[in-house]
Amino acid sequence: MNTSGGWKRLESKLAATQERVQSLEWEPARRNSFVAYTVERDSAYAELDGRRLLMMSGYSYLGLAGDERVVAAAKAALDLYGTGNHGVRALAGSIPLHEELEAEVARFAGRERAMVFGSGYAANVGTVAGIVGPGDTVFIDKYDHASIVDGCRLSGATVTRFRHNDVDHLARRLRAADPGGVRLVIVDSVYSMDGDIAPLPELRKVCDEHDALLMVDEAHALGVIGPVGGGIEDHFGPGCEVDIKLGTLSKAIPSMGGWVAGPAALIAHLRYAARPFLFSAALGPAQAAAALEALRILRREPERVAHVQHQAERLRTRLNAAGLRTQNSETAVLPLIAGSDEAAYDLATTCRENGVIGLPVVSPAVPNDLARLRIAVTARHTADDIDAAAEAFVASARACRILPA
Ligand code: PMP
Repeated sequence: MNTSGGWKRLESKLAATQERVQSLEWEPARRNSFVAYTVERDSAYAELDGRRLLMMSGYSYLGLAGDERVVAAAKAALDLYGTGNHGVRALAGSIPLHEELEAEVARFAGRERAMVFGSGYAANVGTVAGIVGPGDTVFIDKYDHASIVDGCRLSGATVTRFRHNDVDHLARRLRAADPGGVRLVIVDSVYSMDGDIAPLPELRKVCDEHDALLMVDEAHALGVIGPVGGGIEDHFGPGCEVDIKLGTLSKAIPSMGGWVAGPAALIAHLRYAARPFLFSAALGPAQAAAALEALRILRREPERVAHVQHQAERLRTRLNAAGLRTQNSETAVLPLIAGSDEAAYDLATTCRENGVIGLPVVSPAVPNDLARLRIAVTARHTADDIDAAAEAFVASARACRILPA
């Protein structure tokens, strides 16, 4: 590597990372992160080193990743518009597909208007920093997604964290906060690492008592919770609304991109205030078309949602019956707790040997001693797949002494 003074100043950071990576992946067989799996088009299986493995860590919750209609829509957009959008939305980057997609998102979210970003990450960063700034206060759950945290940092607002899903703690934080400025409470509808759901009715009540806006990140909720996959409001039923809804188009909706939905005045504001929208290239035509088609399919085929919920429950029941811990998961995300980081890597490797992919999540993404495999169930998993996965997870946990042999 170049040994100039500039690189020298970076050296200690690079060395620290290398040391950590080596300590976790000390033999090639243990490599688990950044492995290039060849995931089959229907996303239920993947190939690695010539072996076909059951994919249990994919996000395509509705199993629409390889859906022919979605693929055809993306191909048609490619033929019509080509591969890119020539830049940002404000400067010739908009195509009619973006507007159609925004109208469909708004309709799905049950809000006046929506806007789309290049990713869910950009949607969070842009929305949070576009709404609050110096003099305002943001209240975030300890387990909120990193993109929410980064949006808070960019905003310059005062940031206050409350304990995970602890509404009393939030109420205390609100009482102690600066009485002026905008107050924005942000939670994940479904927590990406634990698969539990935010307590919307209680959150709504506390927000109303303290003049706070409530924003939810529906990344793991859209298509997954509620009778028609409508997310957290659909899950809790009428009478309990959030103020601002945000989500991604990269999970149940098998594309790329993010969105925010709310009152027209808010979206009009964000089109000028959300920096990742103003200063980053628009969502590509194929991605926009794929997302639009997938949302329409979700509206027409709500039975996919019940299927995911049913299969997730089947897996949870089997794992818990065998003594495996899945925290408070109630959704398609099931954390399979291993313990230490090393235990999670070992478990992932053993699972792979037993024919199943369950990818490890270690500290600092999750608390120390709660390292886990992050399991996700999709509508492509059959009952046989779920039973085979459960058997492999339990056998692997026994082999790794997470369960008694
Ligand atoms: N929010 C949550 C809760 C997420 O889990 C993720 C992705 N892991 C994002 C936002 C970011 O979405 P994207 O990958 O589309 O940028």
